[in-house]
Amino acid sequence: MTKQEVLKQYFGYETFRPGQEALIDSILAGKDVLGIMPTGAGKSMCFQIPALLMEGITLVISPLISLMKDQVESLNQAGVHAAYLNSSLTANQYYKALDYARAGRYPIIYVAPERLMTEEFLDFALHTKIAMVAVDEAHCVSQWGQDFRPSYLKIVEFIDKLPIRPVVSAFTATATATVREDIVDILMLREPTVMTTGFDRGNLYFGVLAPKDRYAAVHHYLELHPGESGIIYCLTRKVVEDVCGRLQAEGFAVTRYHAGLSDRERKQNQEDFIYDRTPIMVATNAFGMGIDKSNVRFVLHFGMPKNLESYYQEAGRAGRDGEPGECILYYSGQDVITNQFFIDNNHDNQELDAMSRAIVQERDRERLRKMTFYCFTNECLRDYILRYFGEYGSNYCGNCLNCLTQFETVDVTEIAKTLIGCVESCRQRYGVNVILDTVHGANTAKIRNYQMNENPCYALLAKVPAYRLRQVFQQLLMHDYLAVTNDEYAIVKLTEQSRTLLESGEPLTMKLAKEQEKEAKAKKEKKAKSRSASGITLSEPEEQLFERLRALRTEIAREENVPPYIVFSDKTLIHMSRMKPQSKSDMLEVSGVGEYKYEKYGERFLDVLK
Ligand code: ADP
Ligand code: ZN
Repeated sequence: MTKQEVLKQYFGYETFRPGQEALIDSILAGKDVLGIMPTGAGKSMCFQIPALLMEGITLVISPLISLMKDQVESLNQAGVHAAYLNSSLTANQYYKALDYARAGRYPIIYVAPERLMTEEFLDFALHTKIAMVAVDEAHCVSQWGQDFRPSYLKIVEFIDKLPIRPVVSAFTATATATVREDIVDILMLREPTVMTTGFDRGNLYFGVLAPKDRYAAVHHYLELHPGESGIIYCLTRKVVEDVCGRLQAEGFAVTRYHAGLSDRERKQNQEDFIYDRTPIMVATNAFGMGIDKSNVRFVLHFGMPKNLESYYQEAGRAGRDGEPGECILYYSGQDVITNQFFIDNNHDNQELDAMSRAIVQERDRERLRKMTFYCFTNECLRDYILRYFGEYGSNYCGNCLNCLTQFETVDVTEIAKTLIGCVESCRQRYGVNVILDTVHGANTAKIRNYQMNENPCYALLAKVPAYRLRQVFQQLLMHDYLAVTNDEYAIVKLTEQSRTLLESGEPLTMKLAKEQEKEAKAKKEKKAKSRSASGITLSEPEEQLFERLRALRTEIAREENVPPYIVFSDKTLIHMSRMKPQSKSDMLEVSGVGEYKYEKYGERFLDVLK
């Protein structure tokens, strides 16, 4: 078989996605590879396809039990024998799986890194032909990544023990240069083919909103998107409980996930979400690693995460099937403070000494600053993200809130000079809110205590709306006309540019959004999208057909006890609704329908289609 035939026959896809072919060809030519691709780009295919074409077994090293289970289930559904070896198996199941493996039953075996150097596993591995070791989530080897796992360091030790060195392939969605170098060095990849596919996820819409009432905004969003599956990320367990409780009380099919729940409940809730019994998940960032539910249509953030790496990873769980997805961040000024607190009180990594901890904290604060700027930028949001990850965008994507918002160019010279003057006259001692309150002329106890009501700038900008002051202030920070200290106090400081601005006679103009318009636009757009199922345009009868196919999928999923998207993805069902295949050969033309799946379910779907 060729790689094309494997793609078609087992997975039901016609064409490779960017990067996949080059990586597969390299592996088949016996070369090591490093694949850097964003979540949802299709990394698994890059090792699964060569695994089916090479003589010998492919070991896939993966950090998460849930991830292994999901992938093995998917493979089995596609007609590929695969197994996993991790701590979720009983001793009996484990030995049985090893026996099958010895008998050559599985071309692909998923294994947890801490198993590699155990006696039983080595005994098996040393007496079998291992064709490839594929390292998934390879950034776990690096201390510079966000998810360092010491057990990953055992991988090289393991490979060294093998009588013949297999091809080593590594995959990650983390793009920074240090992590990339660490992966190559620590895993000792030999002149690897390195492929970085674009980080852009064109099917995802990005938006940032700062509604007065966040709960109401989320509630409204859900009302406009009935029947869709999505995730709502919150910063703390308490907020998860609160949001989930309120939504439940209002009759939405939601469940929750955070580290404070029992193992059993977490597992149950996760399954309810994956199986679409409760299609909406409210969760902390503890949720999602290893979840590759493909039909997640939206990811809402009820609060700003601590950095863009986390944000993009979490948001990226939308639209993995390639169909439109929406990622909206509901921001509030309080989020920065919450995140500062997390950074200052992070004692997760006990191995760090005081000095390294200070360095890590400094890096974390810088990341948080960049995250905050994401919430305030008036430029294309997608561009901002791509630039953060070292790529260049096109300045206009046409599929983010900023690209779809009308801006006005405003002369802000007076506001800027007054803000800077205020910072100077109070000798750079106060935080953002004190400065803003002073120029706005607030009569609060705090302002009186600090005697800012006697400051020469007091109430000079009383007529400017508060949101406009804040907008201008954020733009000044972003363009280095002002700075804030990177600590919990966030004291506003002057920069070299502050002086230049005060002294120059040049006017300063900024591109600012009209606040009301931004909100109105967002609403209008949501309405437009909600008219078509999942933001995908199907005609009325096609949509009805889609619903019937979906019902059949749910029925089959129940019978087989697998998540619905493992039977067929939304995308596949949408294709079916559009193409309305009437025969086996028609059916095999549908993206996502392979020979094996056709044999299992094809006729039942054809019955509905006829
Ligand atoms: P990653 O591991 O990079 O996050 P996955 O390997 O889970 O992504 O793939 C994401 C989705 O894309 C899966 O549903 C997968 O079946 C699908 N996919 C992968 N390769 C292709 C392809 N060549 N054509 C169509 N769909 C694909
Ligand atoms: Zn854009």
